[in-house]
Amino acid sequence: MEKLSTLLAAGILALVGSTTPGLADGPKIETRKLGENIYAISALHYTSLAVIGDKGVLITDTANPYRASLLAKEISKLTDLPVTKIVMTHEHYDHVGGTEVFPKADVIAHENFEMFMDQDPLGLLPDQIDMTFEEKLTLKMGATKVELSHFGPADGTAVAVVNLPKEGIVVTSDMYLENALTPGWALTDSNLLGSRQILNELASWDLNHAINAHSNNTDPALLKASAQFYNDLYDAVFPEMQRLAKEDPRQLVKRVLQMRQEVSLPAYEQWGNYKDLPDYVQKMGFAIIHGG
Ligand SMILES: [Zn+2]
Repeated sequence: MEKLSTLLAAGILALVGSTTPGLADGPKIETRKLGENIYAISALHYTSLAVIGDKGVLITDTANPYRASLLAKEISKLTDLPVTKIVMTHEHYDHVGGTEVFPKADVIAHENFEMFMDQDPLGLLPDQIDMTFEEKLTLKMGATKVELSHFGPADGTAVAVVNLPKEGIVVTSDMYLENALTPGWALTDSNLLGSRQILNELASWDLNHAINAHSNNTDPALLKASAQFYNDLYDAVFPEMQRLAKEDPRQLVKRVLQMRQEVSLPAYEQWGNYKDLPDYVQKMGFAIIHGG
């Protein structure tokens, strides 16, 4: 599973603005049809949803200018219609660049996105957000209903879960990988209680495809397996936190740091990045006693 951490690292690297392909054959682009007028387009370590409506196309997470130009080319093979809506799954800078490649598009994001507009030293965020929502926003793209929902923070704060209810398709970002833990270093802005809550919610839905921004595998079983992982992690950490919170709260921080070394989850030993489990234990422990 070395590959997965490399993929994520490459995603972060894209953030610093490498605009050259660097590959002799050009980057590999994979487009899969998930339903009528609905596609998953994978390129440069990100997968975007594309929904073709009557007057334009909705896409998610352009990522960066170079990838956005690849998306534009790929979409032009599917339809003559312009991209008119870009939905941001969250505010992390490696997901949000390149919107200028689609001048006719409105950028749509959760309202928390606005908080980061003045906290962006590298200037990676789009210049403006054209539409925000608080809890839920429904968009019509031809015959396809696209629902955006905010369940709270998870990986990032302006988290928008994209849902096509009729087709049983959801899009999430950075809450799980394919039978692997996200590398510990990439959890810097992850709220594990939030990711657990959202994945459990989505695991209860009747899904045909779960698009995960850094994977080209849309099997909902991967989402469900990760929801189970978060539950097992929580169950390994919470009872001790609950006991100490009652008996001696002064011991909580020390105990989290001890448990970092003690907790194992043998069922996930074969998962990629399992060696980073201590980072998860620590982050879950602090999420429970401190928040965030
Ligand atoms: Zn992220």
